[in-house]
Amino acid sequence: MDLNTVEAVVTPRRRDEVWPLGPDDAVLAGGTWLFSAPQPHLRRLVDVTGLGWPSITVSNNEIELSATCTLTELSALSTQLTRSRTDWPAAPLFHQCCTALLASYKIWSTATVGGNICLSFPAGAMISLTSALDGELVVWRPDGGDYRLPVTDFVTGSSANVLDLGDVLRSVHLPASALRARTAYRKIAPSPLGRSGVVVIGRRDAAEDGGRFVLSVTAATVRPFVFEFASVPSSAELVEARDTIPDDAWTDDAHGDPDWRRAMTLLLAEQVRAELS
Ligand SMILES: Cc1cc2nc3c(=O)[nH]c(=O)nc-3n(C[C@H](O)[C@H](O)[C@H](O)COP(=O)(O)OP(=O)(O)OC[C@H]3O[C@@H](n4cnc5c(N)ncnc54)[C@H](O)[C@@H]3O)c2cc1C
Repeated sequence: MDLNTVEAVVTPRRRDEVWPLGPDDAVLAGGTWLFSAPQPHLRRLVDVTGLGWPSITVSNNEIELSATCTLTELSALSTQLTRSRTDWPAAPLFHQCCTALLASYKIWSTATVGGNICLSFPAGAMISLTSALDGELVVWRPDGGDYRLPVTDFVTGSSANVLDLGDVLRSVHLPASALRARTAYRKIAPSPLGRSGVVVIGRRDAAEDGGRFVLSVTAATVRPFVFEFASVPSSAELVEARDTIPDDAWTDDAHGDPDWRRAMTLLLAEQVRAELS
């Protein structure tokens, strides 16, 4: 839709041109959400896609995703890594998590990893991906400094995160130790093409990385919950972990009741456990 209160769209080419960013300004990435709803408080958009960040940088130690990496690019990474990095069995998870955001190819080719994380919706598919893979975020501050934090500390609630006015998400870092793990992915939604109600991802680290079992729960909860076990947990341990999620952290919206999400989380966690045993 037209954002008829917006008077200017600026496209910085260098880091120091991004600011000032005030309360009437918004960072513009793919714009798939910004242009989908009225934004009467906005006067100016600052388009970060002109900064020329490389979308994906693969090294032996990690994958760095720019905030401006699109879902189409990320999905293709699964195929590329399956061929080029046979030592990274987690490769299919990139495409699997993209499919948790059910949208047309036009949205996929525009929507960005950073936009998805910064919206901080419970059904944020990129939050599911990055919390399952020990993702850490780098955020640029308006004073020229940076800070780095786990994605699990970044999202604090439904549509809530730690970003201060003027902060810009720059990148996501996924360590090779998580990429060397086997993963299992489950998603359920009330309708076949519906928004995710529950996303559960299991990760079993390689023996060289300690052999941990990591379980992430997203969409069912207003912020990501990640549980770590020294090895594959028992059914009782899964129940115990699930029961540590506070009552008010279960998502309660049109895409599913908290009771249903709580029950489905355990069911999917059991499936993930069986697949990775
Ligand atoms: C058909 C359809 C289906 C969708 N399904 C889902 C879904 O299942 N789950 C879900 O979570 N969302 C969904 N969305 C919402 C949204 O389109 C996606 O979350 C998308 O990934 C947002 O990315 P974007 O680049 O388009 O963000 P934009 O619309 O450009 O920005 C979104 C918000 O993030 C801020 N922002 C963007 N980049 C940065 C940055 N680098 N630093 C700081 N702030 C930033 C913007 O200021 C804005 O507030 C859907 C949208 C459509 C149209």
